[in-house]
Amino acid sequence: MEKFDVIVVGAGPSGNAAAYTLARAGLRVLQLERGESPGTKNVQGAILYSDALERIIPDFRDTAPLERHVIEQRMWLLDENQSCTGATYRDARFAQPPYNRYTIIRARFDRWFSEQVKAAGALVICETTVTALLKNDAGRVIGVRTERAQGDILADCVILADGANALLGERAGLRPRVSVEHMALAVKEVLFLPKETIEARFNIAGSQGVVIEIAGNITHGMVGTGFLYTNKDSIAVGIGCMLADMKRQRLTPAQLLEGLKQHPSVRPLLDGAEMKEYAAHLIPEGGYTALPRLYGDGWLVVGDSAGFVNGVHREGSNLAMTSGRFAAETLIALREAGRDFSADNLAGYKRRLDDSFVMADLKKYANVPHLLDHNPHLLGVYPRVVGEAAREMLTVDGVAKRDKQKRILARLTQRRSLLGLLGDAYKMWRAFR
Ligand code: FAD
Repeated sequence: MEKFDVIVVGAGPSGNAAAYTLARAGLRVLQLERGESPGTKNVQGAILYSDALERIIPDFRDTAPLERHVIEQRMWLLDENQSCTGATYRDARFAQPPYNRYTIIRARFDRWFSEQVKAAGALVICETTVTALLKNDAGRVIGVRTERAQGDILADCVILADGANALLGERAGLRPRVSVEHMALAVKEVLFLPKETIEARFNIAGSQGVVIEIAGNITHGMVGTGFLYTNKDSIAVGIGCMLADMKRQRLTPAQLLEGLKQHPSVRPLLDGAEMKEYAAHLIPEGGYTALPRLYGDGWLVVGDSAGFVNGVHREGSNLAMTSGRFAAETLIALREAGRDFSADNLAGYKRRLDDSFVMADLKKYANVPHLLDHNPHLLGVYPRVVGEAAREMLTVDGVAKRDKQKRILARLTQRRSLLGLLGDAYKMWRAFR
C-alpha cells in the first residue's frame, strides 16, 4: 500500500495552505478532494484577507485571480422599508497598493491555489471522497479510506481540512457531531452586471471594490447577517442565519435572500442583473467554546472543520489558511527534529494557534454566540429603534427636536424596560469588550 508523509483531506483554503507549505518543505504530500476540481464545492462571500495568504505565497498578487480590491466598507441596518446606512468607511490608503482585502470568486481562486500546490510538488487527486480514517490497534490514525477500489492510503499524519460538516472526525470518534445550534446556513447568488454599471452604482473605478455588510430585520429577528460584494462584472449577494433559528421560524434561506434582494435599498443596486450562480453552505459559528479537539496521534484538524470562524468580523478563510499553515509548520519542525507525529508532539500546533490572532480573536468573542442565541431581541428591537430614531429626527414637521428625542426614548422604553436596557448594555459590553 502506498504511503505518504502527510495526507490532506480537502482542497479549500485550509487544505491548500497546509499542502502547499508541506510540499514546499519537501514532504511527500497527497491531497484528496471530492469535488471535480478544487473550488467546485466551495462557497464564500467572498472577501480574501491578503495577510493570511501573503504569509504563505508572498507574491500571490502576480498570478491570483483577484476581482476587486476593497476601498470601502458599508454597514447597513435594514428594516422592512427603511435603511440606516450611516457607517461607511472609505480610506484613500485602501486605494494604495499593497491592498489588504480583495473580493474573489472561490471557484477560480481555489483552482489557482491548487495549481500552486501542485507546482510545489504535492500530488493532488480530485473526484475522490475520503470515507473514513484508518487507525491501528493503538487508535493512532495511519491513513485514509477512499471510495475508490483499493482506496486505502497510508500516511504518517492526516490533516482534516474537510470543511464545516467535519464528518470524518466525527465518524472516527475524534469529535462529537457539530451541533445544529452552532451552525449557520448561508445562501448566496452571484449576479452578472456590466463592469461599468457596477462602477457607476457603487462610485468606484478600475479594480476598486465596495463591500456592504447588512444587519437588521432582514433576518426576521434571527441571528444572522447579509452581504453584498462587488466583483469585476458581478455582484455577490447573500444572507446567513443560524440553522436552528431557521428551523424554528420555518423560513427557507431562499425566502430570506429574496427578501434581501427586494429591499428598497438593495433592489436598485441589482436592477437588471442576471443570475449566474446560486449556492448554499454551512458555516460553523459556535466559536471558541464549541472548538473540538484539534490534534491527536497522527492527525490534525484545520479551518472550518475545526470551527475556526470569527462570525463577528465575518472572517473564515484567513483563519483557515493560517491554521493550515500552522499545521504544516508543526509537522515540518517535527520532521526536521526527527520526532514523530504523536499527540504529544503535535501539541505544538495548538501552541501556535494559541499564540496567534486565531485563538485570541475566538476567545475575545467567546460569549457572543451564547449572547445572541439567548437574547434574540438584540437583533430585533435595536435595529428597528435606530431606524425609527433616524426617521423621527430627519422628518422636519414643526416638532421640536427635544420632543422628538422624548418620543424616541418613549418608543425604546415601550419595547424594553430601563432595567432591560441596562442589562443589554452590560451584556453587550461583556461580550464585545
Ligand atoms: P472549505 O472551503 O469548505 O473546503 C473544504 C474542502 O474539503 C471542500 O473542497 C470539500 O469539497 C472537501 N471535502 C469535504 N469532505 C471531503 C471528503 N470526505 N473527501 C474529500 N474532500 C472533502 N470567509 C472569509 O474569509 N471571507 C468571506 O467573505 C466569507 N464569506 C462567506 C460567505 C458564505 C456564504 C460562506 C458559506 C462562508 C464564508 N466565509 C468567508 C467562510 C469561508 O468560506 C470558510 O471559512 C472557508 O472556506 C474555510 O475553508 P476550509 O478549507 O476550511 O473549508
